[in-house]
Amino acid sequence: MSYLDLSIKEIHQALIDGKVTSKELVVEAIERAKKLQKTSNAFVTICEKEALEAVNNLDERKKDNLLWGIPYVAKDNFSTKNILSTASSNILKNYVPIYNAQVIDILNDQGAILIGKTVLDELAMGGNGLSCNTGYCTNPLDSKRQIGGSSAGSCAAVTANVVPFALGSDTGDSIRKPASFGGIIGFKPTWSRISRYGLFAFAPSLDHVGFFTKNCEDSALVFDILNGYDSKDFTSSTIEKEETIENINYNIKGLKIAVINQIYNPLENKNIRNDFEKALSLLEKAGATVEKIDVDANLYRTIFPVYMVISSAEATSNNACLDGINYGNTQDGKTIDEVIINTRSNGFNPSIKRRFVLGSYILSKDNIDALFNKAKKIRRLIVNDINRIFQTYDAIILPATSNVAPLIENPDPIDQLSDLYLILENHMAIGNFGGFPSITIPFSYQNKLPVGLNITGRNFEDAKVLNLAATLEKLIKEEK
Ligand code: GLN
Repeated sequence: MSYLDLSIKEIHQALIDGKVTSKELVVEAIERAKKLQKTSNAFVTICEKEALEAVNNLDERKKDNLLWGIPYVAKDNFSTKNILSTASSNILKNYVPIYNAQVIDILNDQGAILIGKTVLDELAMGGNGLSCNTGYCTNPLDSKRQIGGSSAGSCAAVTANVVPFALGSDTGDSIRKPASFGGIIGFKPTWSRISRYGLFAFAPSLDHVGFFTKNCEDSALVFDILNGYDSKDFTSSTIEKEETIENINYNIKGLKIAVINQIYNPLENKNIRNDFEKALSLLEKAGATVEKIDVDANLYRTIFPVYMVISSAEATSNNACLDGINYGNTQDGKTIDEVIINTRSNGFNPSIKRRFVLGSYILSKDNIDALFNKAKKIRRLIVNDINRIFQTYDAIILPATSNVAPLIENPDPIDQLSDLYLILENHMAIGNFGGFPSITIPFSYQNKLPVGLNITGRNFEDAKVLNLAATLEKLIKEEK
């Protein structure tokens, strides 16, 4: 047994009781990271030197902090002072920031130890972990399969028990989708709750900081530490924060939960459907009401195109500063324009270039109303519809993905105009459209490969979402 296989709460207790030292934990986490690197390619950087230095300088007076002495990893789109931060892009290949993201500062102050920066789909634009500039990130549960993205390496590191928690970012589903394929917890709290200062912007109206853990209680613990107003992030919420861990009481009596038929019905796999129905009956047995409700399918078929229009437009504008002159693989050219054009053409992968072309087109004077502004209006209609549902229901529960992790080579083909793809596979972007707290937990195993379900709740009701998720997690475990 290794302490790294345990929950944060248990590791913390072991540290307090002197059963293990933080140095032992960190050394073992680095060993495991090196092993995982060989099989899954999950890291941009394993911060061995920095982590050992940090652990040797830990302030013993802070030992009661829950995360004190506990190793963790962060997606490589968080700024880390004096540590390479590339966002898995050639254009930032040599970028070493001079400052920390706010969440990194908070964790440093806690005494948590950063042991690695993890790979992502380049600049967080993607969903399969296959577009990192350093190569594919594979699933530790089956190396022929994807772990999903964009927070691929962070998810892989928690799935493989390298660390008990990992920072990620979520603009469309980039934490909650890989969590489904790794069989772990992926949580994206209410937009504006966790500071985004120092997170590389992809599409700021949709970007969230979130994280992976191995159980829901740990998610609440980490959230309570990261949650809080930050004057350096002008979108940071000033609404008083609520301690979520204190609200986990495993009581969901009287909660009203909705399943949206038009999102759920396209799910074809009978075994996964069965397991989902079982999860619903567990909720009912525990005293919640679960109802299947209808929405306008046509409105929900727009989720994916609306997401692509808004996110590509915002991404084009935010990433215009990446000229590749300072940190990347600068290419030759006769004029500065030519240098930038050659460098950007060379520096980004084809799917990112498509998004930038799309974004420039959408934002051009002739198209901005017909495309960008219209997409924002449809986004509002979707959010209004979800808020209408939230007038009656406390939460919405749905399968997070339609199946287990896809194969890397020759994945099963999927019709991109089907409701399975347009609605079910992309529905979690609703959580980003409205900024709703949203969590994925495992519920079904097909030939040992996990599938997650997703629970989304009202804004600022993170505590209720976490309690519901923790309760269902417990009920599913007891059932086994
Ligand atoms: N898969 C989505 C995309 O390709 C989500 C990305 C994200 O959440 N960062 O953009």
